[in-house]
Amino acid sequence: AKHSGRNMYRHYAPGMKVMTYDRLMLERDIQQAIDREEFHLVYQPKFSSSDMKMTGVEALIRWNHPSRGRISPAEFITVAEQAGLISAIDDWVVHKVCEQVRAWKEKGIELPVSVNISQLHFQQPDFVVSIGQTLNEYGVSPSLIDIEITETSLMQVANEDLLAKLSQLRELGLTLSIDDFGIGYSSLNLLRQFPVDYLKIDQSFVRDHGKLDIVRAIIQLGHSLGMRVVAEGVEVPLELDFLRREKCDEIQGYLLSRPLEPEAVRKHVGKSVNI
Ligand code: C2E
Ligand code: CA
Ligand code: CA
Ligand code: CA
Repeated sequence: AKHSGRNMYRHYAPGMKVMTYDRLMLERDIQQAIDREEFHLVYQPKFSSSDMKMTGVEALIRWNHPSRGRISPAEFITVAEQAGLISAIDDWVVHKVCEQVRAWKEKGIELPVSVNISQLHFQQPDFVVSIGQTLNEYGVSPSLIDIEITETSLMQVANEDLLAKLSQLRELGLTLSIDDFGIGYSSLNLLRQFPVDYLKIDQSFVRDHGKLDIVRAIIQLGHSLGMRVVAEGVEVPLELDFLRREKCDEIQGYLLSRPLEPEAVRKHVGKSVNI
């Protein structure tokens, strides 16, 4: 095991079920982190591929642990899911996002925000009602909130209840995205039944230039199902050029913008990025 505090949890690949002292401490710390305000959100812009203007942002959680420093969500979200703590986190995120959307609105900025929701939280019987109440509480228009759920989790629980929930969210006026698309082996038949607005192509396909044929196929698939297609993880101009040529609708990635603090997001409002 590494000894530097920062790297304490690095060995726990997602899905590994280890019950060690470190792991137990991590669970305890996640529980306390919300109350102690150790979490915060950063916002990564998405851009329209046609005019390169910002179309919205994705909220991404950050944890600044008092003794261990920054811990990546890739590490603690999995632990939170296994420990039954993910709903508390996802709830906190929804509240925080609504607060931010309201704050932007007060400054005259109307910006749609995508929120990552764990399938475990999504499955809570009162999820739809609860999110509707929160939007009301903050006076946030549902059309400004997009829910991202991974393809893998959608396929795992593809049942009537899930489809009903997706429809209810859209009736409320929210939009829906299928995240990490392409690695979950969706059946086309199921995909057609999901009432979703956006397909987000998994980063691995964009990054591996040998797989750009797959990217092209996903764009065509999404369009043929009437969805908009988003590419994430775009890091180099070659990828951007390819995606624009193939009419991928929206682009996200370090090449255009890293995740930003809310104040920094404002500089993109109304402007095109230049690459
Ligand atoms: P994701 O939803 O697929 O988010 C995209 C991840 O890729 C983010 O990592 C983002 O910072 C990173 N990224 C964006 N552009 C680039 C790029 O050009 N190159 C590279 N190498 N990476 C890029 P992050 O923020 O560490 O989040 C990791 C995962 O943790 C997310 O994957 C999501 O599954 C989960 N997560 C993050 N925030 C939340 C949250 O608030 N709630 C829940 N339930 N899960 C979250
Ligand atoms: Ca996402
Ligand atoms: Ca993703
Ligand atoms: Ca992911």
